[in-house]
Amino acid sequence: MPEDTRLDPSRRRLLRYAGSALVLSVTPLSSHAANRPAIIAVRIWPAEDYTRVTLEHDAPLKFNHFTVEGPDRLVVDIEGVEFNSVLESLAGKVADNDPYIKLLRAGRFKPGVVRLVMELKTRVAPQVFSLAPVGEYGHRLVLDVYPENPVDPLMALLEGRKEAVEPLKLDQELAAGKDAKAPAETPTAKRPGKAVVERMVTIMLDPGHGGEDPGAVGKRGTYEKNVTLAIARRLKARIDAEPNMRAVLTRDGDFFVPLQMRVQKARRIQADLFLSIHADAWIKPDARGSSVFVLSEKGASSTQARLLAQKENSADLIGGVNLAKTKDVFLARTLLDLSQTATINDSLKLGKYLLGEIGSINHLHKASVEQAGFAVLKAPDIPSALIETAFISNPEEELRLKDEAYQDQMAEALMRGIRQYFIKHPPGPKARMASIG
Ligand SMILES: [Zn+2]
Repeated sequence: MPEDTRLDPSRRRLLRYAGSALVLSVTPLSSHAANRPAIIAVRIWPAEDYTRVTLEHDAPLKFNHFTVEGPDRLVVDIEGVEFNSVLESLAGKVADNDPYIKLLRAGRFKPGVVRLVMELKTRVAPQVFSLAPVGEYGHRLVLDVYPENPVDPLMALLEGRKEAVEPLKLDQELAAGKDAKAPAETPTAKRPGKAVVERMVTIMLDPGHGGEDPGAVGKRGTYEKNVTLAIARRLKARIDAEPNMRAVLTRDGDFFVPLQMRVQKARRIQADLFLSIHADAWIKPDARGSSVFVLSEKGASSTQARLLAQKENSADLIGGVNLAKTKDVFLARTLLDLSQTATINDSLKLGKYLLGEIGSINHLHKASVEQAGFAVLKAPDIPSALIETAFISNPEEELRLKDEAYQDQMAEALMRGIRQYFIKHPPGPKARMASIG
């Protein structure tokens, strides 16, 4: 890799913003020896799901890892790497509240080998893998620290429901009465006199991107991953306030979730709907407006939709997925591709309601629901839509996306669309295909 790419100041700035407080060091290493790979940045993304440590380096490197018990440790030996200030600064850089990592340190183990030792708070199932350069990133060595016994999202959801029994009853009484719950700021909301649905429906909300993958970045430095999470949280609060509705987020923090994992999470909780929330970007700053996409089985409905699906699907490359681990899952997927037509028809109806409501709060980029091969919309049995809430590359819309009032309006519009969908298409009894795990 050429010298100037490695030290490109604009890229450094991006990385610094991307990791915010978590970027530990991006000090240019002017004195590093030629031909020896050097670690140029370290980022740590702690989350309940898993904690990721990313070591970015300027040339390919060799490594191996093993775990040690009593106390639990993960050890990674890196060959031929220069021991520098970035590695030196590892010690004490782990957040106190990191769910899995107690301590991380690096040292010269023997000539030509640097040893990383991660002290763990609990038994973990680590994945250590490398990523080739992509987009703004160079080579990356990734240490993913998963809990040995991950929290089952379905069990978490069921426990949440148990606690929510009393408030739910109250909601229904209110809804059956004089519509006392209708918020004053939403005069256009079409609230029915009784609950929209007879049984509990579960809606999976998917804030796009996260962690290593910032998504699109606005001129003012706004990150798509932050905007999508903010809107998803606002929408979740609205859904949870509805009688018989519950929302679950694919991520409730700043960490990366692979696209296939997002779909799996939705299937695991037997979600009735899946909404992926994004913000668009285009090279021309005047592109603007919201759009809604659903899956296409037969190819994209327009060039723009195809390009967008390609861009969104590249999230796994940027976010960093251990391909060796996900192979089997992708194989299982192709078997399920056969039965998607009915779901896509439902998704189109859902998309139409969403688009209609979004049209009341923002300019529409496209007046109809578009279709393309979005990987995140591929749950074969869950109506799914991807919402591009606005163009983060448009300076005016970037401001709106950051604005809490607009985030509320967007959440409210999506809520109205969801409500309408369920009024017109009441959910039947749950009948699901066998889980693909
Ligand atoms: Zn996106």
